[in-house]
Amino acid sequence: AGLKPNEQAMIERRQKALGQAYRLFYEHPVHFVRGEGVHLYDPEGNAYLDVYNNVASIGHSHPKVVEAIAKQAATLNTHTRYLNESILDYAEALLATFGGETYQAMFTCTGSEANDLAFRLARSYTGGTGIIVTEYAYHGVTSSVAECSPAFGPNLPLGIHVRTIPAPDTYHFDEAAAERRFLDGLSAAILDLQRHGIRPAALIVDTLFTSDGVYPEPVGLLAKAAKLIREAGGLLIADEVQAGFARSGSHFWGFQRHQVVPDIVTMGKPMGNGHPIAGLVAKPEIIDHFGKNVRYFNTFGGNPVSCAAGMAVLNAIKEEGLQENAAQVGAYLKAGFETLAETHTLIGDVRGAGLFLGVEMVTDREKKIPAKEQTTWIVNQLRERRILISTIGPDGNMLKVRPQLPFSKANADQLLNTLDDLLKQL
Ligand code: PMP
Repeated sequence: AGLKPNEQAMIERRQKALGQAYRLFYEHPVHFVRGEGVHLYDPEGNAYLDVYNNVASIGHSHPKVVEAIAKQAATLNTHTRYLNESILDYAEALLATFGGETYQAMFTCTGSEANDLAFRLARSYTGGTGIIVTEYAYHGVTSSVAECSPAFGPNLPLGIHVRTIPAPDTYHFDEAAAERRFLDGLSAAILDLQRHGIRPAALIVDTLFTSDGVYPEPVGLLAKAAKLIREAGGLLIADEVQAGFARSGSHFWGFQRHQVVPDIVTMGKPMGNGHPIAGLVAKPEIIDHFGKNVRYFNTFGGNPVSCAAGMAVLNAIKEEGLQENAAQVGAYLKAGFETLAETHTLIGDVRGAGLFLGVEMVTDREKKIPAKEQTTWIVNQLRERRILISTIGPDGNMLKVRPQLPFSKANADQLLNTLDDLLKQL
């Protein structure tokens, strides 16, 4: 639909060269050749407002990151088996974001690999194998992580040592009941693992529960969960691939909202603003236990160019006040959606923290019936109006609002006004 002949040809080339497993966004796929700040540009030079991308989280083609990568690539790029200061400077700067907690860092190239490594660390330290995740969690693509990612749906079986628990669903339940369902689910999952002779190794959670439908509340929940999993001999792994690097506005890391200290924290996506760097931090005794038995080497993980990109990202977040911006513009945007909800009954709920919001669409506010079709229509119509967004949640009836951290109030107004127009048409 609406594709130019060369774009139609690109789709055919994709099918031929890349095969069936890849998917494009939108009924009318979109073609980009350039990115800058909060915008992506098509070949005609039209600007699209990016309200989706948390990889180029501090802005597309950020000049400081580009410069750091280019400078380091022109100087030296090698691996972690030679002495070089770049990994040390970066690891120390990263560890300093944890507010005095004692951690050590290990580097990978993707969030999936970071979670895979976290599972190996947790299993080595606890002697258990059981992993507990939320019902619609997504943690990545390696074999051991995909089998802990129910978001893939029924075609991808969960591992026999994997148990799922409900996310803290504060839309269908009040906060106290949502918390009780989550914690009771955790206790039941621990017992069920034990009944099957499986020792729990870890509870892993996305600290904003994004693929479950964005549930930032109730804060404090993860501290209670940590106590339960530790009493059973397991660890708490905070997956910060979505929530980390200042996105939640009030805190640099999502777990910090819950006043908990995880045993392992995994991270990725925004870490290099598009450059593939990911990794984890873990308590030293956990890394000691693993490291005294096993050598860790990841060919590309923690290379000097990746570390230069990571360092430039940390510096830019600080120098440009991006965490404060996420808090301020995030609150403005959330209030804007709440105002829209006063006139548009399709909006059932607005949730989120900082610049990660979920807007849940329902055809009936009392019965909370998911408005999947309407949500898909809105996402496709926004694309025609040059605003990029996607859906989220188990029923695909939520707008996933996850712009870059430098998103401005004017950008927020553009999104809100366009959405208002579309909702009037429905
Ligand atoms: N954890 C979470 C919470 C994620 O959202 C993702 C990616 N969507 C991953 C892990 C996996 O990261 P990657 O795609 O870099 O392997």
